Amino acid sequence: MTIPSHHRMVIDGEDVEALAGDRFSRTSPAHDTVVTSYPRADADDVDRAARAARRAFDEGPWPKLAAVDRSRVLLRVAALIRRDAAALARLEVLESGKPIDQALGEVATAAELWDYAAALARHAHGDAHNTLGEDVLAMVLREPVGVVAMITPWNFPLLIVSQKLPFALAVGCTAIVKPSELTPGTTVALAGLLREAGLPDGVVNVVTGAGGIGSAMTCHDAVDMVSFTGSTEVGRAVASAAGQRLKKAELELGGKNPQIVCADADLDAALDAVVFGVYFNAGECCNSGSRVLVDRRIAADFQAAVIRRSKEVPVGDPLDPATRIGAITSQEQLDTIERYVAEGTAAGASLALGGSRLPTPTGRFYHPTVFTDVRREMSIAREEIFGPVLSMLTFSSLDEAVSIANDTVYGLSAGIWTSDVNAALTASRTLRAGTIWVNRWMDGYPELPFGGFGASGLGRELGRHAIGEFTETKTVQLQVGPRTTRWLTDPVAG
Ligand code: NDP
Repeated sequence: MTIPSHHRMVIDGEDVEALAGDRFSRTSPAHDTVVTSYPRADADDVDRAARAARRAFDEGPWPKLAAVDRSRVLLRVAALIRRDAAALARLEVLESGKPIDQALGEVATAAELWDYAAALARHAHGDAHNTLGEDVLAMVLREPVGVVAMITPWNFPLLIVSQKLPFALAVGCTAIVKPSELTPGTTVALAGLLREAGLPDGVVNVVTGAGGIGSAMTCHDAVDMVSFTGSTEVGRAVASAAGQRLKKAELELGGKNPQIVCADADLDAALDAVVFGVYFNAGECCNSGSRVLVDRRIAADFQAAVIRRSKEVPVGDPLDPATRIGAITSQEQLDTIERYVAEGTAAGASLALGGSRLPTPTGRFYHPTVFTDVRREMSIAREEIFGPVLSMLTFSSLDEAVSIANDTVYGLSAGIWTSDVNAALTASRTLRAGTIWVNRWMDGYPELPFGGFGASGLGRELGRHAIGEFTETKTVQLQVGPRTTRWLTDPVAG
């Protein structure tokens, strides 16, 4: 790929410019050079894309195909993602600032999601009831919900669209997808791979740009459902607009995810997971382990070990395979991080490490940052920072740890490190979060549902649950034999 590369949107199977002819470009957050450019869509382009998706759903072959045929297309997409892994990963790095090794891992995981959804397509069946009486047989059908609007963020562009799109396609939906304007590259590239894999025109339409496009998609009459990943604030707006129009909404939002470290844990394993948990993707991660709760008896030693280990994490050029923390994706995000660090310091937390930008010739980088003496009421203990900033708290009993862990509006994920099986089971039951990790952190599998409690979202992605998210349920009742009852003449049952 030559830089900058110029891309177009994909609507109704064609590569198109925006109707108004406007374009925008993306600058690498690590290298300060323009790397890509795209059409700047507006509501008219959204209308064109939504109508194409509607036509493809109402008239096209896709929803009516045998599941095995949809499955074959999804398997081909997985193979094409693997074929283009190096180029996709590089594009992701240049636009997002994430480390190249990590990006390659995400591309591989995305391909697995397409594989899994292909298998799921053939299991998206309904139910039958043979026990309702001699004269009735009933079926519960699962039908595709229709046109799905997908709005995806900049932190895991290919991965997050792959948590939604293949599952919606598996059951026969069509889609209009809007990637973040910061990182549209791999989603636009994916649309090309879908065409190559044989997906009919109009089934997936990708619009690029920012500023009112997401809202135009959510509110469009041709759209039946919205699937959004991003901030809780925008999630609320999406849910409210969908609610007004009685559309389905599926939301994956923020988190302030606690890791509880007990005194009896394998502390070496916990240490590695704590450092990985907070610095992975520079902390720009809904599953970031941004709160660590340590047993008071071991807190001083464990905190000192976290600080020592944090100093060893390589920060820098994301194209260097040794890098573990790359660039901060946007100036807005860097501003947010700096604001929270200032708030934490002002509130009386101890800034034990970092707390400033890294001086580099190009780009936006932030020091791994650790706060100790954090209290549960501080904003750095309660709110999503979305940066490489760890807040460390202490506890003196498991009850207290769970109470601190649950003291947030969020509930995406939580974890406990312990060798006591009773503590692990109690925490698993009492922590209020969509995913609980016991002696591990941040693993995910296509088979396992993902989503959050409370302000972390609505609905679940992945696993068999995805079928429920992207389908409507239809009940069909069949009379078996002659209808023997008569409403007008039979006695009314008392
Ligand atoms: P947001 O989560 O705020 O979402 C921005 C996206 O939402 C854009 O695509 C925008 O489209 C769309 N949008 C905005 N308003 C509406 C609306 N009313 N209806 C439909 N779509 C809408 O991302 P930001 O980049 O602003 O990030 C802010 C914070 O969000 C981060 O600091 C982080 O805390 C959190 N975040 C969480 C993520 C997660 O994985 N859960 C991912 C990314 C961010 P348009 O521009 O066209 O309006």
